[in-house]
Amino acid sequence: MVLTKETGFIDHEKIYEYLANTKPPERSEVEEILSHARELKGISFEETEKLLLVEDDELLEEIFKTANYIKNEIYGKRLVLFAPLYVSNLCNNDCVYCGFRVSNRKLKRATLTIEQVKEEIKSLVSQGHKRVLLVSGEGLGESALDYTIKCIEAIYSTKVGNGEIRRINVNIAPLSVEGFKRLKEAKIGTYQLFQETYHYPTYKKVHPRGPKSDYLYHLTAMDRAFKAGIDDVGVGILFGLYDYKFEILALLQHIRHLEKEFGLGPHTISVPRIEPADGAPLSYEPPYPVSDKEFKKIIALLRITVPYTGIILSTRETPEMRREAFSLGVSQISAGSRTNPGGYSSKDAGEQFSLGDHRTIDEVIYDVCKLGYIPSFCTGCYRLGRTGLDFMDLAKPGLIKLYCLPNAITTFKEYLVDYASAETREIGNKLIANMINEIPHEKIREKTVKYLQRIEKGERDLYF
Ligand code: SAM
Ligand code: SF4
Repeated sequence: MVLTKETGFIDHEKIYEYLANTKPPERSEVEEILSHARELKGISFEETEKLLLVEDDELLEEIFKTANYIKNEIYGKRLVLFAPLYVSNLCNNDCVYCGFRVSNRKLKRATLTIEQVKEEIKSLVSQGHKRVLLVSGEGLGESALDYTIKCIEAIYSTKVGNGEIRRINVNIAPLSVEGFKRLKEAKIGTYQLFQETYHYPTYKKVHPRGPKSDYLYHLTAMDRAFKAGIDDVGVGILFGLYDYKFEILALLQHIRHLEKEFGLGPHTISVPRIEPADGAPLSYEPPYPVSDKEFKKIIALLRITVPYTGIILSTRETPEMRREAFSLGVSQISAGSRTNPGGYSSKDAGEQFSLGDHRTIDEVIYDVCKLGYIPSFCTGCYRLGRTGLDFMDLAKPGLIKLYCLPNAITTFKEYLVDYASAETREIGNKLIANMINEIPHEKIREKTVKYLQRIEKGERDLYF
């Protein structure tokens, strides 16, 4: 495909035309699409485009129920947990929604030393975390990649008691193909980058200066990551900047482009909504706020359209919204997060935005268990090389339950033995006893029970 100079493969005219000229679908059509969705193979993007126009409350309820069915059939009751690790809030960009923007002179700036990174990791591991998302502003210039790689090496090599970080996902400024190759060699999990908005005029307005103001370079980051051999990439939209319907239609174009060029779509989709950030006036009054109802519709539609793609929800959202979102299809959540560099080992650099969920990881886990979900710290697929297309092959109905559920159970057991409060341990052990019966294969069920006994005796990191 030939990229146009400004907007690349995002066909703005086509989206404008669709939104201006298409009526919401009739009930019968919605029902037909939803019954197709229940076959668990995903629906066509044309079908998603139709569902996106549904506004009727009763039909929306049907969409939510279908998303819930798909989520249960494919993922069961498992929820993967992670924590973001902010290593630097220096930034040369001026994204008008972000507290780290260069023109925010009041923000206390910091870049962690490698020793400080290790302190942060000690704190996170001591809380029970096994997966981190390394996040950084774009202010380190030429040394940024070397620094990131040193951080990754320090994180993987920091062991605390029985625990360590076993997977590092990365959300940093886009790189060249060569840069991405180095990131891959450092053994990252997923490379994440949010387009923020696919709408070119809005993108230019909210990214007035700095390297990030180049829409096309940002948009084509995942192409370069794939070319460099990174096969798990995570995309995202910052909801509130522009019309969510435009954004979803453009996201579908992005996914279609990646599938066509590389045979594979994104591994995860993140759905942040703008949160208030000191020094970023737009964040207090986003131009296109997304209501809770619309937000639920977005999550449900993504779950229905790409059933095997992870959906990530952060602590930007309140506990109430997070609970609802689990049932609609969210598969990964952050917990106990801090968005300021050094925040876990109590340094006081400025935060990126304020959080909606301030609970500790143990409080989140207790709540998740009470809702009947099993927290997972699994890093098995990535470490066994089940990434990219291999992961997608595994992610057929039933197979996630076969591997991911036992791995959720064993990693959660480690958490319960090593880190949990008495209340969480009690509710968690009961949950595990019930969940074991849901493992569909007898041999794997028996092996999981044996793994649990070995974990009780002190062994760690047992997985399928
Ligand atoms: N600097 C890199 C970048 O901008 O892509 C990566 C890190 S940036 C800290 C991570 C994400 O935070 C951004 O992609 C943006 O979507 C999100 N973010 C920025 N300001 C936010 C706000 N006020 N509320 C919610 N999310 C925000
Ligand atoms: Fe910098 Fe990223 Fe914040 Fe933009 S969103 S100001 S690039 S940290």
